[in-house]
Amino acid sequence: PSANYDAIVLGAGAAGLMCAAIAGQRGRRVLLVDHADEAGKKIVISGGGRCNFTNIHTAPDRYLSANPHFAKSALGRYTAADFIGMVERHGIRWHEKTLGQLFCDGSARQIVAMLLGECELGRVELALSSPIGEVGHDGNRFTVALPGRIATAPRLVIATGGPSIPKMGATGFAYDLARRFGLKVVEPRPALVPLTLGGEEALFRTLSGVAAEVVASAGKSRFREAALFTHRGLSGPAILQISSYWRPREPIAIDFTPDTDADWLVRTKRAQPRTTLRRALAATLPDRLAEALSERLALTTELANTPDRKLAEAALQLSAWRFTPNGSEGYAKAEVTAGGISTADLSSQTLEARRVPGLHAIGEAVDVTGWLGGYNFQWAWASGWAAAQTL
Ligand code: FAD
Repeated sequence: PSANYDAIVLGAGAAGLMCAAIAGQRGRRVLLVDHADEAGKKIVISGGGRCNFTNIHTAPDRYLSANPHFAKSALGRYTAADFIGMVERHGIRWHEKTLGQLFCDGSARQIVAMLLGECELGRVELALSSPIGEVGHDGNRFTVALPGRIATAPRLVIATGGPSIPKMGATGFAYDLARRFGLKVVEPRPALVPLTLGGEEALFRTLSGVAAEVVASAGKSRFREAALFTHRGLSGPAILQISSYWRPREPIAIDFTPDTDADWLVRTKRAQPRTTLRRALAATLPDRLAEALSERLALTTELANTPDRKLAEAALQLSAWRFTPNGSEGYAKAEVTAGGISTADLSSQTLEARRVPGLHAIGEAVDVTGWLGGYNFQWAWASGWAAAQTL
């Protein structure tokens, strides 16, 4: 048996659900296919089960891509406000947590239910538990082999995401399929991922569980958020953010004293000569961290005993403590995959492949990766919506 559609969307995740729903509502006959037994599994576990579904500060400069301009068009046409509008039409209550991050008051499942409801409105045919077999193209129509049948359509949308969290059914399928159609793939790498420490720096692992607000930086990128020491290295939002910019063998810098200037320790010595570095640091940092840093700087006695020059050096080191991670926790722990289907081969307006008319790629499969904080879902919604306009 075979069936003809106007469009086949591969992957019923965030981007695929949005794309299929909108195309269906525009009157297209859409088939939405996923090998999982449930749609939107990553949405369900996202944001600690409350789904950080967008960020009100969404802007193209909060995305990594070989072409930093690529995301502008889609993000500009389907905005955070548009998605909030949909959330509110469905009566889902939400709140802003910090830094413009919006979460459901209730559960991430409400977002999946909302998108499935939108798909129903668009009469989308949903094929779950459907591994995708051979995909062909005869110049006019795409054919997709599914269990027990062949589906065909003049338009095919790749929305199978990236390989992060393989345990949840994530695969590199999008890249393989794109390559088969001659599209280039920008080297994928785990992003928004904890970093691991080895050697000398492994000593910091004894701080496992300690968190502090810091400024983490790599190259020109800086993030002021919490960092967390773990039994393997470093995590927490500041580290996840910087991990997307980090390259193997490069150091990252952590400012443990972001609200001080270069002279603060010398001034503290004048004002309180009998205090110690540990006590001075403990005013803003957890005591265990203050202790570890003072020990590593070998400044454990009263400040009065230490020359000003040494204190100035210590202040400098505390404001740019260099760690050279020996790796990351990889795809098993990466919230997203950076890199992906090259934007050079896609139209930024329609997400359609320049040399394969009718083939589109959306969501995380594309070389567009957002910061932590709802940006990745906003890209999934916006790119899905943009592609749907031409299906
Ligand atoms: P996905 O949502 O991953 O969907 C891809 C779909 O394709 C899946 O349903 C999958 O089953 C299917 N698929 C894959 N391979 C195949 C195949 N070979 N055959 C058939 N089907 C296939 N982003 C935010 O913005 N806010 C958050 O709060 C947030 N929290 C997150 C928490 C975790 C733990 C993780 C892992 C990610 C989180 N993200 C968050 C990132 C966000 O989930 C992704 O960026 C987003 O889901 C990407 O959407 P997508 O539709 O492109 O891919």
